[in-house]
Amino acid sequence: MLNSFSVSNADTPTIESLTERKSHESTDTVACCESFTNYRELNHLSYTHIFAGNSFDRGDHERRDEELLKKMIRQDNTKLLPFHKLQPLVRRSPEAELAWIGHDFLDGLPEEAGGPKFLGFDADRNPHFAVDISAVEDPSGIASLASDASFEDGRAAATDIPQDQSGILAQARSNLNWHSQHRFCSVCGNESQSFRGGLMRQCPKCSSQHFPRTDPVAIMLVYKGDKCVLGQTLARQNSTFYSCLAGFMDQGEAIEEGVRREVMEEAGLKVGNVTYHSSQPWPFPSSLMIGCHAEAISDEIVADPGEMAAVRWFTKDEVKLALEDKLEGVNIPGPIAIAHHLIKAWAYDTANI
Ligand SMILES: [Zn+2]
Repeated sequence: MLNSFSVSNADTPTIESLTERKSHESTDTVACCESFTNYRELNHLSYTHIFAGNSFDRGDHERRDEELLKKMIRQDNTKLLPFHKLQPLVRRSPEAELAWIGHDFLDGLPEEAGGPKFLGFDADRNPHFAVDISAVEDPSGIASLASDASFEDGRAAATDIPQDQSGILAQARSNLNWHSQHRFCSVCGNESQSFRGGLMRQCPKCSSQHFPRTDPVAIMLVYKGDKCVLGQTLARQNSTFYSCLAGFMDQGEAIEEGVRREVMEEAGLKVGNVTYHSSQPWPFPSSLMIGCHAEAISDEIVADPGEMAAVRWFTKDEVKLALEDKLEGVNIPGPIAIAHHLIKAWAYDTANI
């Protein structure tokens, strides 16, 4: 079926099919859900990549009550996660984890800090907020409020902290970045104000409402029979790094259309069947990686010289070696990236294709 696009299995996924799938998929850095007791957990059944798995209740009802939000920021059970220049406060001992602190430090913050943004409630209904303290010149005083903590690069920290915390990190980092980049109304240029705990900005002059953006990216492993396509972008030329083809979705485009367009643009290959695998939030700054397998129906690669340094076919055996870091002259993404799992699922025949 040339034009079909199936979500997960060709059928609607059932608990049985997803359980079965769990049993033969690797669990290295991919946490599979252990129980199926409610909808939130069902959401996490197939693949939960790093930067997904956020278990907070995002409190849609509460965040629409501005007075309640103000009160919650100052509650004794409230926890805040400061970010300095988009780097979260992370504790390293006894275990690596996000370093939440109380609200007392807010009194000393400069006004341009922008105020805490509501992330949601944990299982005990403790409110959690993120706050951008980039306006603080020396953040070491705030870092010292948590023991053994410092501001760290979010990508590096994400592989060390627990899975669900990497999802919280993604939510918080993308939201704080959006506020720092969208302070002014794009309609009239006036400074807008944050509402709903950070999920909306409204212009006091023209009343325009602005919402946080997420940029969808199609990322796909192109395959045909026993071979697949990996490419090297111009940014990586003269390296040994190869990965899946990928590109931002255009407006007015379905996912399978975006996949086919990107593959044609970057590799000159025609794609038939497109199958969804999984998705990964990528908070640098606010992408959503939509992972697919794409079956090529032509063979000749014509790489786009404006974007790609190289695009090549690899055999399944070569890819298996690359996954073990044993293919000479070729490195592929590690388990932090969805590309690794798209490649692995195809190489070991666990993809829904
Ligand atoms: Zn305006």
